[in-house]
Amino acid sequence: MADEKLTRYVSAIGLEIVAVSEARDRWADYQFHLAQFVRPDILGLSAGNHQIYISYELARRAYDSSSYRWLLRHTLAHEIAHDVLGRDGGGEDNGVDHSGLANRITSRDLGLSGRITFRPYSRSAELAADRKAMEYWRKLDWNCTHWVALFSNFLAQGYEGDVDHPTKERLEQAMQICSAPSTTPLRNLPTVSFSFSSSPVSAKPAISEF
Ligand SMILES: [Zn+2]
Repeated sequence: MADEKLTRYVSAIGLEIVAVSEARDRWADYQFHLAQFVRPDILGLSAGNHQIYISYELARRAYDSSSYRWLLRHTLAHEIAHDVLGRDGGGEDNGVDHSGLANRITSRDLGLSGRITFRPYSRSAELAADRKAMEYWRKLDWNCTHWVALFSNFLAQGYEGDVDHPTKERLEQAMQICSAPSTTPLRNLPTVSFSFSSSPVSAKPAISEF
């Protein structure tokens, strides 16, 4: 698979999401890049200014596998939501860590050789990005049960996330949103049940994005 073809594939899905976002008028500014992140559980990155990075390995698998395609849609929607909400978006952060999780992602984990400076988003910004991303999914008629299933599978595989991305909290929020009655009418939703592929992106079941 040529990188160029894979990048076009990722961009096409990304732009589908941008088209239902608040940034739809700036769609032409969006650039989607494939990246070989050093830390294998990093799936995506919003570098600001409409620059979205997606794990090469995730993109490659999503091209061939529908389960990874939902993971790619999840990652893209989350990163685009970060871009739309911006650094200050997503509400207050009291800086208190309730998760007991460490392993915060650092610039070194990215392996992007100083092309971008990495600052982690706060946990509340992460949850806000999830909420916004799920809004985009709803507008696209992408069934939120896939979103919930992704997090359920993370937990089932023992992946608790990291300090800024607590899987359990994200799952709880997603279940709440997904079970709430929708305010916009949906076209007939697919009822396929999601099952996570038995070959995760990395040897470890560690999968996240920020
Ligand atoms: Zn994030």
